[in-house]
Amino acid sequence: MRGAMLLRRGLALCSLPALVALAGCASAGSASSSPPPLASAPVIEAKPAGVWRSGAMVAAANPLAVDAGVEVLQAGGSAVDSAIAVQAVLGLVEPQSSGLGGGAFMVHYEAATGDVITYDGREVAPQGATPDLFLNPDGRPMGFIDAVRSGRSIGVPGAVAMLEMAHREHGRLPWGQPWRAAERLAEQGFTVSPRLNEMITAAVTRGGLPPEAAAYLTTDGKTPLAVGSRLVNPRYASTVRLIVARGAAAFREGPLAEEIVAAVRREPTPGTLSLEDLRAYRPNRLEPVCGGYRVYLVCGMRPPSSGGIAILSVLGTVENFDLAAMGNTAAGWHHFIEAQRLAYADRDTYVADDRYTQVPLAGLIDKDYLRSRARLIEADRAMRTVEPGSPPGAKPRGRDATGNGTGTSHFVVVDGRGNVVSMTTTVEGLFGSRRMAGGFFLNNQLTDFSFRPVDDAGAAIANAVAPGKKPRSSMSPTLVFRDGKFKLAVGSPGGNSIIAYVSKAIIGMLDWNLSPQQAVELPNLIARGPIEAETSRADPQMLETLAGMGHVFRTGRNQGEVSGLHAVRVMADGRLAGAADPRREGKAVALN
Ligand code: GLU
Repeated sequence: MRGAMLLRRGLALCSLPALVALAGCASAGSASSSPPPLASAPVIEAKPAGVWRSGAMVAAANPLAVDAGVEVLQAGGSAVDSAIAVQAVLGLVEPQSSGLGGGAFMVHYEAATGDVITYDGREVAPQGATPDLFLNPDGRPMGFIDAVRSGRSIGVPGAVAMLEMAHREHGRLPWGQPWRAAERLAEQGFTVSPRLNEMITAAVTRGGLPPEAAAYLTTDGKTPLAVGSRLVNPRYASTVRLIVARGAAAFREGPLAEEIVAAVRREPTPGTLSLEDLRAYRPNRLEPVCGGYRVYLVCGMRPPSSGGIAILSVLGTVENFDLAAMGNTAAGWHHFIEAQRLAYADRDTYVADDRYTQVPLAGLIDKDYLRSRARLIEADRAMRTVEPGSPPGAKPRGRDATGNGTGTSHFVVVDGRGNVVSMTTTVEGLFGSRRMAGGFFLNNQLTDFSFRPVDDAGAAIANAVAPGKKPRSSMSPTLVFRDGKFKLAVGSPGGNSIIAYVSKAIIGMLDWNLSPQQAVELPNLIARGPIEAETSRADPQMLETLAGMGHVFRTGRNQGEVSGLHAVRVMADGRLAGAADPRREGKAVALN
């Protein structure tokens, strides 16, 4: 009944049954440009949360953004209303990571119905983007930084359109209300935090910021605003007013749209993004990809993100081992590392925008397939090499080696009715493309595509550029349920390391029985290639044991420290416990 009703409403659905642990739920969305349906789309009876007594929570990477989200909840707003406020402020106070010129994914749980839905606000390649977008005339890939800081890297922004869609369906307050804090802070100013100062300094040293970033610099136009100084961004305030008045239409036509196009088309290396591309953008409502993990159901983003699939692939692999008994030890980490290596190999090979490429989604998270992958793992020795597997339904593909960004943020909101938002939002790299419009930075998301359309052996790469295509993401906003009830929300920035960060936090909480904060603070060990270990947090003895098993560690540049995990968990006593990653500057605030 419920399923039929949802389908009539045109909603994709993944409702939670009483016993869901083993129920895979990976089926197609219904938005116009959504991917083709998978064979096994279950229609499951919803299990509403009943009376919610656990209170509310906001956890995000910046205290001002958390305060804005809390203010909205206190005014009676929903989790989505609060998420709008958090994003609006993050775009101002943490512009290096996310904002109005970027894209985002949201996983939403509606307590009254038990429905889990995802919103896809991923950037889209303009119609003028061709497979050689990031190739030099000699056919070789452009330098990464040259590509990032060009108009070619800028995809059609989707974050605001996505928030508007989510608000239409789950907002309780008028659209304009959650934007107020951002407008106020942009107009009256806010205090520059140590991290913002550090990021501006990094940008200034590495290639600089454009003249239109004057708000973030002193009057000489090149010195970063000092920690503690006041930052005012009136352009951002007027953009917020425009968005309040016109919604996402402000991005589709009119002066802001024209300004975006002009910024993209500027020399050097202009892009092709046009008013027509902006007009054509629509966010998507998609079904989550869900799968059982021990007694839990884990739900995340389907393509164009690889996040949901890869998290389930890691978890479905380690599920074959007793991680709880191994505990937070070298043995436990060894199995987790090996599961990561296997999952990354598959993810790198098979996952891309599934409106353009056949993605063997069900095969990649199939329990029998993952059991066969888990058999490759030896108890005390690292696998010598790791190859992508042949999941059911897969076609041969070239493996791509797309790089990593540092411009992303993750936050979670639980409102007083038990509705939950887990949202990861991004401009891709540090301050995105470094080009601006309307007081915000424009993304460089298209550098998440493979620069090369074929690999060395000439095999087509799934994540190659195409007009209208979305670059593959690693963003992994995740929700976890048990017996149909919401249990935890988590996610992180960190480019493709997100998969390692988020699965670490889930294993820490569910297998090692850590609090959200303890799980977030576990060391980061990323095993996509040679392991990047967060040596400042990892036990040196354990790292030595792992090296003794044959694990190879990367030296030099290390991604280990850039997670920004934010989480909330319903504890055994029914209360919410939140976590904010100490590697960033945020906080988790509970309202009871
Ligand atoms: N653009 C990346 C993605 O979508 C995220 C970059 C980051 O986390 O910094 O996967």
